[in-house]
Amino acid sequence: MKRIKAFAKINLTLDITGRREDGYHLLRSIMQQIYPCDFVEVKKADSISLKLFCDDEPGSSHDVVPADERNIAWKAAELILKEAGIDSGVEITLKKSIPAAAGLAGGSTDAAAVLKGVNELYGIGYDTDKLCELGVKLGADVPFCIRGGTALAEGIGDKLTPLPTPEKAYILLVKPPIAVSTKEVYEAYDALEPSEREDKSGRLEKLLKEGGADPKAVCGCLMNVLAGVTEARHPMIKEIREKMTELGAEGALMSGSGPSVFGIFSDGDKAKEAYKRMTDLYPDAYRAICSFANGGEE
Ligand code: ATP
Repeated sequence: MKRIKAFAKINLTLDITGRREDGYHLLRSIMQQIYPCDFVEVKKADSISLKLFCDDEPGSSHDVVPADERNIAWKAAELILKEAGIDSGVEITLKKSIPAAAGLAGGSTDAAAVLKGVNELYGIGYDTDKLCELGVKLGADVPFCIRGGTALAEGIGDKLTPLPTPEKAYILLVKPPIAVSTKEVYEAYDALEPSEREDKSGRLEKLLKEGGADPKAVCGCLMNVLAGVTEARHPMIKEIREKMTELGAEGALMSGSGPSVFGIFSDGDKAKEAYKRMTDLYPDAYRAICSFANGGEE
């Protein structure tokens, strides 16, 4: 049996640099692994099966997570077993804490954990590059979730440059109870006029490499080109983001295509106070105080 921690991710920066002929968007994003994490267990079995347990947190919308072959964890097991020519299955136990459909790569990280777990369980021996090559077939965030830590992601998310993790910070995560369609957000973004903008990913990459990436400096580089699109449709996201900075965050931003918002705090007490205020203001939202993660797993 193999047990793996599957961490969430946030996008400290997210820019779209173009589109491939097949329609996939080309990204330039600094991705950061964070707590919370799901727990994934894989056991040898004759066929593939899935047991799903979900935290009962407000706003986690786990009712949208399928417990059958539609689950991306199941698809990951199918993919690697087929690729390796293994004619047996795996019993997957998935304990979800990461809110679903949140812009936190909840599904991608489970898929990454299953690829890594099954690789070890059956002694398949694929290296990380090969696992990432399989992973990108399941989703653009899967290769990052396989490698973890902090990285500049380019291409469709498959070209990863590992980077040092920012200095310790307190992350306040709030996912309002809003359903965001990733497809619609990208379509609305595509309809916008192209605009000139600073390469914040490049700025943050330099900062991380040089050291001194304290919360304030990191927050000077935050950007997400999808934020304007999602926030225009769901003003609550902007409201939460602005509230976080009012409550002492060095900076705050929507992650991925939304709707989760993260605030980065230098001061743990301010983060706790902000957590309490968010609980009063948004009782139906998922809320957590967490930290950066750095590839750690069990
Ligand atoms: P990303 O940041 O990679 O775009 P996300 O956090 O926005 O991802 P997910 O949590 O991966 O979104 O969920 C997207 C959809 O995938 C859900 O609505 C759900 O129906 C489906 N899904 C399939 N498997 C899983 C899984 N293991 N965990 C979460 N969602 C899953």
